[in-house]
Amino acid sequence: MTIRTRFAPSPTGFIHLGNIRSALYPWAFARSQKGDFILRIEDTDLERSSQAAVDVILEGMAWLGLDHDEGPFYQMQRMDRYKQVLAEMQAQGLVYPCYMSVEELDALRERQMAAKEKPRYDGTWRPEPGKILPPVPEGGKPVLRFKNPQGGVVAWDDKVKGRIEIRNDELDDLVIARPDGTPTYNFCVVVDDIDMRITHVIRGDDHVNNTPRQINIFRALGKEPPVYAHLPTVLNEQGEKMSKRNGAKPVTQYRDEGYLPDAMVNYLARLGWSHGDDEIFSREQFLEWFDLDHLGRSAAQFDEAKLRWVNAQHLKAMADEALAPLVAEQLSKRGITADDRLPRICALFQDRCDTTVALANWAAAFYTDVNPSAEERAQHITEAVKPALAALASALAELASWDKAAISTALKAVLAAHGLKMPQLAMPVRVLVMGTAQTPSLDAVLELQSRELVIARLQKA
Ligand code: GLU
Repeated sequence: MTIRTRFAPSPTGFIHLGNIRSALYPWAFARSQKGDFILRIEDTDLERSSQAAVDVILEGMAWLGLDHDEGPFYQMQRMDRYKQVLAEMQAQGLVYPCYMSVEELDALRERQMAAKEKPRYDGTWRPEPGKILPPVPEGGKPVLRFKNPQGGVVAWDDKVKGRIEIRNDELDDLVIARPDGTPTYNFCVVVDDIDMRITHVIRGDDHVNNTPRQINIFRALGKEPPVYAHLPTVLNEQGEKMSKRNGAKPVTQYRDEGYLPDAMVNYLARLGWSHGDDEIFSREQFLEWFDLDHLGRSAAQFDEAKLRWVNAQHLKAMADEALAPLVAEQLSKRGITADDRLPRICALFQDRCDTTVALANWAAAFYTDVNPSAEERAQHITEAVKPALAALASALAELASWDKAAISTALKAVLAAHGLKMPQLAMPVRVLVMGTAQTPSLDAVLELQSRELVIARLQKA
C-alpha cells in the first residue's frame, strides 16, 4: 500500500507556525514512507478565504521545502464532484431532506437547553418505516441530512490519542447540503479524502469532533476510513492556543527575519514529536527518524528563544557557500549588491549570529557606510590614539600586499612605535571600520575590506 497523506488548510487567515506543523508531519510521514503528499486548499468559506492567504500557504511551504506530489486542489473547483456524490447518496437513501426552519431549530434548542439536554436535531424529518413525516411546507427549501447510524459506537485508534469511541446516539444527523444545494464542510472532506485515496489523516485535534461524523460518512459510502492522528495544539509563549488573533506571525515572516528552512523544520519537528533527546538534526535525519509512534500527547509550547537557538546551531553548521546566497538575499532587500567576498564574510561572522539578518547586519559594513555611535566614538577614538590611527593609515597604504599577514605586521609595527597594547588600537580601528568595537580578529576583518575603504574610514578619526 502506498502511503498517501495530505495537508488541507483553509485559507482564512495567514498560516502560522502552529498550522504549518500540521503540514510538516504528514509531509514527513509521506516522504519517510516513500509515499505521496497531497495539498488541498479548503476554500469553501468564501467570505473568509483570500488569495493572499493561499499565497502565504504556497510560499511558506515552498520556503520550508514541504513539496507536494499532487495538487494544490481547490475545493471550490470540485463542487460538481461533491454534488454528484450527494445525488448518489440521495438515490441510495443515505440522506434525507429536512425542512425544519431556522426558527423551529432555535425553538428546539431552547426547549432542550431548558430541559438540561444536549442540544441536537431531533430527527423530525428522518424517514423511518411506518413513520409519517410532516407535510412539506410550501416553497420550503430543504437541507440534506446524513442518516447517521443509530445505536452502537463509532471508534478509531488514533495514532496520538489512542482509542476513541463515540456513541452514535450522540451524533446528530449532520447537514451535508445547504438549502441552495452547496455541500458542507465535513462532507467535502470525506469525498476528498476518498477521491485522493488518503491513507493517513494527520491534522490538528480541533478536528477530533468531526472525525466520528466523517467516519460514518466514509462507511455509508462503502469505504474504510483512513488512519487518524490528531495533533495536540501548539500554544503560544503565553500558553494560549496559537492564533493570528493573539499575535502569531505568518510563516513567511520567519523567512524575512532570517530563519533557515532546515532550522524551522528541525524546530517544528520537535514541537510535538521526539527522537530520544535529539534536539538538533538535519532534514535527512528527521525524515529517516520520523514516525507516528513518537508524536507527543500534550500541547507543545512555542518558545522563540529556543527557535533562535536552533537557528543559530544550523547557521553555524552551514557551509559558507550555502549561506552566502541567503545573506545576499537579505542584503538585496536593503539595496546592497554583494560580491564574491560574501562567502568569506559569512565564514568569519556566522559563529556569532543567530539569523541571516544578523549576518547581513555584519556583512553590510563591507558594502555600505558605517555609523559608529557617538558613545563608541567618545569611548574609543581618544586624542591619545589618533596619532597611532593616522600612522596605521599610512602603514596600510604602503603595504606590498593586502592580506592578513601583511595587515598584522603593520598593526604590530604601529603598536610598537606608539607604545600601545593591541586592544588600545584594535578597538578604535573596529569602531571606525566596522561601526562597533566587538568584531572577530581584526586582521581577518580588515583583509576582507578594500584597502582604500579602510584607509578612508581611519581618516575619519
Ligand atoms: N481545513 C481544515 C483546517 O484548516 C483542516 C481539515 C482537515 O485536515 O481535515 O483546519
